[in-house]
Amino acid sequence: MATLVCFHAHPDDEAIATGGLMAKAAARGHRVILVTATRGEVGEPQEGVLAEGEQLWERRVVELAEAAEILGAEPPRLLGYEDSGMMGEPTNDNPACFWQADVEEAAERLVEILNEVQATVLTVYDDHGGYGHPDHLQVHRVGLRAAELAGTEYVYESTINRDAVKQMIAATADDPTADGPSLEEVESFGTEQKDISFIVDVTEHVDVKRASMIVHRSQIGPDSFFLQMPDELFAGAFGQESFNLPGVKDTGGPSSVDILPGL
Ligand SMILES: [Zn+2]
Repeated sequence: MATLVCFHAHPDDEAIATGGLMAKAAARGHRVILVTATRGEVGEPQEGVLAEGEQLWERRVVELAEAAEILGAEPPRLLGYEDSGMMGEPTNDNPACFWQADVEEAAERLVEILNEVQATVLTVYDDHGGYGHPDHLQVHRVGLRAAELAGTEYVYESTINRDAVKQMIAATADDPTADGPSLEEVESFGTEQKDISFIVDVTEHVDVKRASMIVHRSQIGPDSFFLQMPDELFAGAFGQESFNLPGVKDTGGPSSVDILPGL
């Protein structure tokens, strides 16, 4: 059996980006480890979720642990950095934030985990962090460096299928309650389908994936665009997860796979 390590930036990224892969790998008896660089300190809390005096990160680590359990992963491990916030925000200058972290030093922290669990497969993010969030860019850099140092055999970059997102926006264009991104906003999202290496079918695990998203109550409200989607549309949007091989472009179109090679 293999050991899959999914490296993410913030609590809730794991559910949205690799929840299906994690659930599928776990269901097949692989060991699944979730590592998060930050505790998501500067996310926007949903109204009324936090108790008086409760810090957002306190709630988010609990949500993360719940999501990991639902997905069949071990209790999450944290690299110990703070959330950098969106690009250009003053929080980018916080010396404790992940964006300010030294890549070598951060990679060493991840290497320790990769070695301890004897990771065979690692997922990071694509080379622009999906949508340019500083912490997501760092996951790419730190993750690839750690894999190199640890000699991890299989490394994949989790990405977003830009063409699929565009289709989804077009499908909900007539719905005035849909508050998802606009077509212009997604022009730089993820990866064009023709450049994606693998698309993993996770439709069988889409209910588990949805359940893992729901527990992130401080971030994803019950009336959010994602959770309001009818089952069929949700399965269409989240039933497939895309991954690139590092440095590989123009793949001639993705290979549709049951699970990633190495698992
Ligand atoms: Zn994130």
